[in-house]
Formats: sequence, C-alpha cells, structure tokens
Amino acid sequence: MTDIALECSCGKVKGVAHKISPTTGRRVICYCKDCQNFAREIGREGDVLNAHGGTDIFQITPSQVEITEGQDQLRYLKLSEKGIYRWYTDCCKTPAGNMVGPKLPFVGIAHNFISCGNDRDKILGPVRYSVMEQGAVKPEGTEIKTMPPAEKSAEKFPIGLMIKIFTRLFIDKVRGKNRPNAFFKPDGTPISE
Ligand SMILES: [Zn+2]
Ligand SMILES: [Zn+2]
Repeated sequence: MTDIALECSCGKVKGVAHKISPTTGRRVICYCKDCQNFAREIGREGDVLNAHGGTDIFQITPSQVEITEGQDQLRYLKLSEKGIYRWYTDCCKTPAGNMVGPKLPFVGIAHNFISCGNDRDKILGPVRYSVMEQGAVKPEGTEIKTMPPAEKSAEKFPIGLMIKIFTRLFIDKVRGKNRPNAFFKPDGTPISE
C-alpha cells in the first residue's frame, strides 16, 4: 500500500490518496453516456475519455481522500435530479471524484486526478471491469473494437460488480469510511454550491 498524489491539471488543487493498492480500490472503465456527457460538459472529453469514450476510474472510499490545497476550487455537477455528484475543479476543470452522496463510503476518481505517471498498472492494478460497453463509441474507420483490456467486460452494469460494490459499501459504512470526507460537510451538505 502506498500514498499517491492527487493533483488537478493546473496544480491548484492538490491532495493525497491514502493506502492505495490494487486491492484497496477497484479500477473500472465506464463507457456510459453520463460519464461522456460529464467530460464534455467540463470541456475535457479530449483527455478524460479514451478513444472509445471510456473513463478510467479508481473506486475508493472518501476516508482515503485528503485534499491538501485548493479545496475551495471544488465544484460538482449533477446531470439529473437523482444523478450522482460529479466533482471537478473550477480552476482547470479536472474531474475530482464521482460520489453517490455524503452517506455512502464511495468515491470514483478519474485517472486525470491521480498522479501515477507510467506506473498506473503497477500501482492501481489492471482494469478489473469494463462496464456499460453499450455506450462505447467506435472511432470512424475502425472495424474492430480496440478497447483497453479488462479482466471482465459487460454491455451494461454487471450484477456481479453491483454485488461487490454493495458488499464493500456495507462493510465500509459499518467501519465509517465515509469520514473524513473532503467533499461533504459533516452535516451532509456539499462543500460548494
Ligand atoms: Zn486546476
Ligand atoms: Zn459512467
């Protein structure tokens, strides 16, 4: 396990992801249209999404995330009323974490915010799941999909992964892993409007 630096593209927002290893988090590539729309909304589709519209995300708990500088730059977007909180930095529009809400010990951090250099596969491990592939875009002129390899892949959101996430959520909830929380105040309100 190791501590990994978190940093937005311009360097204003800095932090640390604690106790990171391929087993203390889960690496997932999501091809859903919402993730694509989010990247587009913040104008970062060029370097957040891979060639097929997928976002490389590392799922950890809020207690592992510490923001050390520029917390006031954090903003969130909800693509629908009941949508998840998609945090990004106001300074340079770097995605900073997807969260269901203040009570659930879950945060998905997009690759752009995690400083792994070329050691991504070594530090975060291989892509465990490639999900929502029904939303993947096929670059023009290519016949064969050349999506990044994953241990498991699915057209939608696989029930097996859902069960894994919920089991983990339950255990982490009992352990209080939604605190401390860099994105929500103790009363459950987001740190920014
Ligand atoms: Zn920035
Ligand atoms: Zn998605």
